Amino acid sequence: VDRELVSPRGEEHSHAPRSPEERGMTIQCDPYATEAEHYGIFRRVIAQKNYDEVLALLKGGDLRGMGGAGFPTFIKWEGARKSPGIEKFVVCNADESEPGTIKDRFILQYLPHMVFEGMMIAGAIVGAQYGYLYIRHEYELQTEVLNEELNRIRALGLLGNNIMGTGIDFDMEVFVSPGGYICGEETALMEAIQGNRSEPRNKPPRTVNSGVWNKPTALNNVETFCHAITILGKGGQWYHDIGQNGSAGIKFVGVTGNVKHPGVFEVPMGISYRELIYGYAGGPLEGREIIGFAPSGPSSGYLPASQLDLALDWDKVKAVGSMLGSGAVVVCDDTSCMLDMALVASRFYRNESCGKCSPCRIGTQKLVDLIENWTQGVNHGGDEKLLKDLSNVLRTASLCGLGQISPAPIQSVQKHFPELMRQHIEDHVCTAGICFSGSTL
Ligand code: NAD
Ligand code: SF4
Repeated sequence: VDRELVSPRGEEHSHAPRSPEERGMTIQCDPYATEAEHYGIFRRVIAQKNYDEVLALLKGGDLRGMGGAGFPTFIKWEGARKSPGIEKFVVCNADESEPGTIKDRFILQYLPHMVFEGMMIAGAIVGAQYGYLYIRHEYELQTEVLNEELNRIRALGLLGNNIMGTGIDFDMEVFVSPGGYICGEETALMEAIQGNRSEPRNKPPRTVNSGVWNKPTALNNVETFCHAITILGKGGQWYHDIGQNGSAGIKFVGVTGNVKHPGVFEVPMGISYRELIYGYAGGPLEGREIIGFAPSGPSSGYLPASQLDLALDWDKVKAVGSMLGSGAVVVCDDTSCMLDMALVASRFYRNESCGKCSPCRIGTQKLVDLIENWTQGVNHGGDEKLLKDLSNVLRTASLCGLGQISPAPIQSVQKHFPELMRQHIEDHVCTAGICFSGSTL
C-alpha cells in the first residue's frame, strides 16, 4: 500500500493519488493552459476533417500503445478506419491491473479531458458512433471524476448527433469492469461490455476488425489517448524532442516498492531507471541497498541492480529480455528475496487465470508448485528441465498474455540471480530471511 497517497476528496478514497500541485509537479503533456480551452483540438479536427494529417502526426511522434505492448497507434486507428462496416466503436482500457501499475489512475483523475478528447478524435477518424471508457471497479473516485467530465462535454454540445453541425454522431459512457485481472485483457473486456463472462477470445480476428459487438473497434490505453492530445496540441516535434538520449516522447511511470517516495511521475523517455528511482522516487530507504527491479511489474520479469543504468526505451529494455510495458517500476531492496518475488508473482497468475485454456489453468499451478519447492530448498532431479518445458508450453500454447507471460518472473530470477537460486537450493539459505520460515505460504 502506498502510504504517501492521500485523497484530496476525503478519507473514503485514502489511496487516491496526490494532486500534481501537492507534489510540486508540473504536468508537461497537457497542451491546454485553461479549462475554457479544453476540446479545442477536437473542434478543429472535426471541422477540418483532416484525418490523414492527424494520423501522420501520430506516426511522426512515434506514439505507441502505453498499456504495455507498445503497438503503433496510427496503425491501429488506420486499421479500424479501413475495416469495412458502418457501425464502429472506440474503447479506452482503464482497467490497469498489472501489479505496480498506477499511472492510469493518476491520468484519469487529473487529465480526464485529455483522455476523453483522445477518444473523441479516434471516434471521428475511424468513423465510430460510440465509445466506452472501461474502468476498473476499485477506481470509484476516478469514475466520479470521469462522469462529471462527461456531463461537462455533453453540456458543451460536443457529444450526441450532428456535433457542431459536422454530421458527426458520437457518444460515450463510463463502463465499470466486473473486476479481476483478466477482465482487462482487450477481448475479455469486450465480452464484459457485451454482458458475457469475461474471458479472452481467440485471435485473430483482431480488435480493429472485430471488437465490441464484433464490430471494428479502436481500443487503446488511457495514456495513449492522453498522449495523442499532447502530440496534436504541442506538435510531433515537441513530443519527439522531449525524449532524452535518442528516445522519443514522454511517459507516466509508477514507482512502488522499496523507495522513499513511491508515486506516479511524468518523465522523458530515455532517462535511466537509476535516475527515475533515485532522482524522482528518492532512492532506497536509509541503510538499504537496491538488489533488483521490475521495469513493468512481474510481467516484465526482474532485472538486477547492475542494470539500473538501462534507459526507459521500448527497444533498449526489450534488448535485455524485458519490457518497458506499462511503466510499473517495482523496486526491491535487500530485505526482499527475488525468489519469493517470483513465487508471489506466480501465485498471482495462478489465482487470476480464468481457466479457459488448459496450458494456463494447469501450467500456472505447476509453476507455483515448482517455485514453492525451491523456496523451501527442495529440488527434485530434472526440475530445471521441467521449468524449461513448462515455460515453453505456457508461452506457446496459452490463449492470452496472462498464461504466455506467467513464466517470466521465475525465468528472470534464474537468469539474473543464479547465486540466490543456488543458496536456496543447495545451502538452504535465504539471506533476506523470508523463505524457510513458512511466512511466504
Ligand atoms: P499484443 O501484442 O497481442 O497486442 C497489443 C495491441 O496491438 C492489441 O490492442 C492488439 O489488438 C493490437 N494489435 C496487435 N497486432 C495488430 C495488428 N496486426 N493490427 C492491428 N492491431 C494489432 O498484446 P496484448 O496481449 O493485447 O497485451 C499484452 C500487453 O499488455 C503486455 O505488454 C503487458 O505488459 C500488458 N498488460 C498491461 C496491463 C496493465 O495493467 N496496463 C495488464 C496486463 C498486461
Ligand atoms: Fe484464461 Fe489463462 Fe487461457 Fe488467458 S491463458 S484464456 S487467462 S486460461
